[in-house]
Amino acid sequence: MYFVSKMKKPDTALAKPAGRGSSVPAVSFEFFPPGDDEMERTLWQSIERLAPLGPRFVSVTYGADGSTRARTHNVVARVQREMTLTGAPHLTCVGASRSTVLDIAQDYWLQGIRHIVALRGDPPQGAHGYTPHPAGFPYAAELVAGLKQVGNFDISVAAYPETHPEAKSPAADLDNLKRKIDAGASRAITQFFFDTDVYLRFRDRCHAAGIDVSIVPGILPITRFPQITKFAERCGATIPAWLARRFEGLEDDPETRRLIAASVAIDQVHTLERHGVDEFHFYTLNRAELTYAICHALGLREKGVRSVLAPQPAMASAAAV
Ligand SMILES: Cc1cc2nc3c(=O)[nH]c(=O)nc-3n(C[C@H](O)[C@H](O)[C@H](O)COP(=O)(O)OP(=O)(O)OC[C@H]3O[C@@H](n4cnc5c(N)ncnc54)[C@H](O)[C@@H]3O)c2cc1C
Repeated sequence: MYFVSKMKKPDTALAKPAGRGSSVPAVSFEFFPPGDDEMERTLWQSIERLAPLGPRFVSVTYGADGSTRARTHNVVARVQREMTLTGAPHLTCVGASRSTVLDIAQDYWLQGIRHIVALRGDPPQGAHGYTPHPAGFPYAAELVAGLKQVGNFDISVAAYPETHPEAKSPAADLDNLKRKIDAGASRAITQFFFDTDVYLRFRDRCHAAGIDVSIVPGILPITRFPQITKFAERCGATIPAWLARRFEGLEDDPETRRLIAASVAIDQVHTLERHGVDEFHFYTLNRAELTYAICHALGLREKGVRSVLAPQPAMASAAAV
């Protein structure tokens, strides 16, 4: 049986479907900074499509060595300035001194940005493993503590249901997550996973270790299966055989691929929901279509649409009956 937390999120859903009445889960969406004009157009179209679903926050990734610093900043600043959304920049320790990182955070604070996704970051391509900057934050836990000195940011950190590839052991990795929460993070977002049991076991272990914040599942809708396989190899996530089999032979059939991808992710979120999950983070890869469909299946609807659209005559009369 799964651990039942005495803290924030009791898992009552094992015996019965999640009885959350008419409430819908909270969601957040992750984007990456665009590299060219066409990607920029796609990004903003996607943000505009997803924004009416009322995400808790919209996060923007940060290049491995700070290479996207200005672009990350620009996307977040525009999200925050021009849309009624909470922008959340990712910030990493890689290749920068503490003072550089804290200056960036200070700048965010002054611009009214209050949510940061704090990460150690991956070494730049071609580097042999991770080496902390001599004057930098060595790991994410130290970064979280540093950010809290700048301002009372709402901080999300990363968690690894299948254990971070560089961790000494699953227990050491869990200790590290606890350190990040104890340093002031208010939520953990997981690396993507496709085996729901792996997430549920991990959440139990977090609760047992006294980690009492939301362990928000990171959902990766599969846009292109070979690309996802490469991501998975890099970050130590497992691709179950049943999943590979679902995408088998669909290399030249994008339409069926999309249908399969939607059904896989919708099954995944519904299973998680039955186990009491009420918050999801979507790795959108800057595409709105699948994430929108999954959110729709979760019951999310565009906010305010009904109030601004005039009812059609047939609908109006039906409503009057
Ligand atoms: C939701 C999410 C968003 C992400 N966004 C980005 C992004 O925008 N940019 C980017 O570059 N990467 C991003 N990543 C990837 C992330 O940077 C990598 O997975 C990175 O390798 C680890 O980052 P972390 O914050 O989990 O590191 P940490 O929590 O610091 O842990 C890193 C590793 O070091 C170990 N460790 C921690 N402290 C110590 C210690 N004192 N001594 C020895 N070992 C220790 C941990 O167990 C773990 O194995 C993201 C990951 C997730 C899940």
